[in-house]
Amino acid sequence: MTLIAPGGHIGILGDGQLGRMMALAAAEMGYFVHIFGQEENSPAAQVSHRSTIADYNDKIALEAFANSVDVVTLEFENIPTDTIMFLNDIVPVRPSRQVLEVTQDRLLEKSFINNLGIGTAPFANVESIGELTHAVQQIGTPAILKTRRLGYDGKGQTKIDHASQIDTAWSEMKNAPSILEGFVNFRLEISVIVARSANGDIQTYVPVENRHKNHILDITLAPANISEPVAKRAEEIAQTIATKIKLIGLLAVEMFVTLEDDVLVNELAPRPHNSGHWTIEACATSQFQQIIRAICGLPLGNPVRHSNATMINLIGTDIDQWSDIIDDSKNSFHLYGKAESRAGRKMGHVTKLLPLDEKPEI
Ligand code: AMP
Repeated sequence: MTLIAPGGHIGILGDGQLGRMMALAAAEMGYFVHIFGQEENSPAAQVSHRSTIADYNDKIALEAFANSVDVVTLEFENIPTDTIMFLNDIVPVRPSRQVLEVTQDRLLEKSFINNLGIGTAPFANVESIGELTHAVQQIGTPAILKTRRLGYDGKGQTKIDHASQIDTAWSEMKNAPSILEGFVNFRLEISVIVARSANGDIQTYVPVENRHKNHILDITLAPANISEPVAKRAEEIAQTIATKIKLIGLLAVEMFVTLEDDVLVNELAPRPHNSGHWTIEACATSQFQQIIRAICGLPLGNPVRHSNATMINLIGTDIDQWSDIIDDSKNSFHLYGKAESRAGRKMGHVTKLLPLDEKPEI
């Protein structure tokens, strides 16, 4: 892979907080960032060299964007794959279209994972009410019906506790192709972030515990309170998926640890992840610097942590407490530059470092 040396130009599709933190890391390493997004004065554009505001299907804008950079990456996985193909004819896009095709569709994603011998919740493809009825009989209740595409933070999901809820659940999906998943009675939710470079080098961050509120990540505890063998299994799973999917870049693997200590994969995100924000302060190389290294053909950095950490998301009106939060000298404080704090909107986050021998707890 050709090396893109510092001084080169990186294009990022998407203009939210992940793009912002990637752009900041890229700038620290001497790169110039061009953001392709939809919003005026977006979190990412505020801190970048250049920005283009255009639709993801606008070929003229995409061509000019591609011609202005040496490599393209993305901060969210639901970019149309035609757009990725179009850009990739002009400039390398990392991660590739093939990675996005799998991770944009829950059915393809879970099938891919199972084919590697890695466990997930039991699932069935559902495209009609007849198929949903059959899937509920097969998988049992409770179960979760999820749209195959475009769901995040619990959107496009509905729980089915009893067969009598099938009609309502299916009408909520509005005929979108979906999957029914068996409900996992998990002990905790964890994630592993793995980086892979073009020459196959791989580095993983330690598994962390993720706690959600209203389906949105609330708190990350690094490291997760799991046994050594469970942590090893989780890291192996992330590495196997990254290798087999031929990743160049970063992949977050969200997993359930069951009451029996089995590790099941829930979801993949081929980009930096909210559960990796703690790496900015606690690791030699943050997830944001790591993805820049991977996509530019630089050697991967050391992901080892020098501290334990807790990361707390500031969601919606949490941000009104900013002056108290900033007053506490133990807090590393991050704001994303969003003008308006709507309910459920990620406005910023706070990281607290702890010594390596102290368990992160809230
Ligand atoms: P997802 O959009 O698939 O990441 O799901 C959002 C959240 O819903 C997860 O982080 C879990 O807390 C919960 N969830 C999703 N799928 C399942 C499942 N099969 N069993 C239990 N909880 C689930």
